[in-house]
Amino acid sequence: MSLPRLPAVRDIIKLYGLSARSQLSQNFILDKNITDKIVRTTAMNAKTPLVLEVGPGPGLLTRSILDADARNVVAVEKDDRFISALKQLAESSGDRLKVLQGNMLTIPDEEILSAAKLGPANPMDSTDPIHIIGNLPFNVASPLLIQWLHKLAGRQGLFGLGDASVWMTLMFQKEVGQRLSAEVSTQHRGRLAVMTQSLCQVKTVYTVPSTVFVPQPKVDASVVQLVPKPAFHIGDTAGVYLTLENILRYFFTKRRKTVGHILNRLSKEMPRAKEAIAEAEVGLDKKARPEDISTDQFCQMAMIFHRQNIVDLPL
Ligand code: SAM
Repeated sequence: MSLPRLPAVRDIIKLYGLSARSQLSQNFILDKNITDKIVRTTAMNAKTPLVLEVGPGPGLLTRSILDADARNVVAVEKDDRFISALKQLAESSGDRLKVLQGNMLTIPDEEILSAAKLGPANPMDSTDPIHIIGNLPFNVASPLLIQWLHKLAGRQGLFGLGDASVWMTLMFQKEVGQRLSAEVSTQHRGRLAVMTQSLCQVKTVYTVPSTVFVPQPKVDASVVQLVPKPAFHIGDTAGVYLTLENILRYFFTKRRKTVGHILNRLSKEMPRAKEAIAEAEVGLDKKARPEDISTDQFCQMAMIFHRQNIVDLPL
């Protein structure tokens, strides 16, 4: 399923006068060895039922995805200047690529599924994982991930297609990548690490130096792979996840305080949570700081609070 010979992406950029727009965080990769390497980390292939690419820009990563034999690719790009070049790539892809112009933060999943010809009436014919992939615009990377984690917890939209797992392989600024994968009691440990690790195995698969991008950004990037874990709670996982987020906000806005201090304060501010707090603090080291609490311990706390209907915490 190889692509016909196409003009080099570098030439497409020249041909269409596609200068990078900083307000869209455009830093392009023009070296196909690199985009091939990113795609290889996903092990996607002809059996992959769907690949969603976010922010394809001039389309080199898209070419690598098609060269990996992906047969159902939907690419969502906000900047209309790229659409005609991407449509040309779609035409030469043998109907394997669909291009949607839109904002990934607001585009409905139904639009993506309809372009991919998937949904309740068209179930997938493969149990292989769906892949979301992107050299993400840095300024929307974190909000997008948070949105996807919510959908994953609630098994909604793309994350609710039968039993299919959705793997995410995403480029982040290196520092954000470190925050996502931070282990307990390490420098970068915070809310984002626990939120992400409560639902996914998180692995940095590739560190990409800033020199690879055109124009060159100030910082290096890393490709992080997120593979959903079995749900940490049977039943209302979305509700428990929401409780977890509220607990994390409460704890990590007091990150210099000890766990004992934080829980005491919570029981004063919220007397009706006393019973849940008493149950949750069993096994916790009161002298520890929020970054020392493991993801499992936070999930356990969220399950206890949720069971006792303590969902919203004071700010
Ligand atoms: N994938 C290309 C590459 O690797 O060279 C371009 C990467 S560039 C860092 C980010 C791309 O995301 C740009 O093409 C930009 O126009 C697009 N973009 C920015 N915000 C977006 C959004 N909210 N939804 C979809 N695409 C967006």
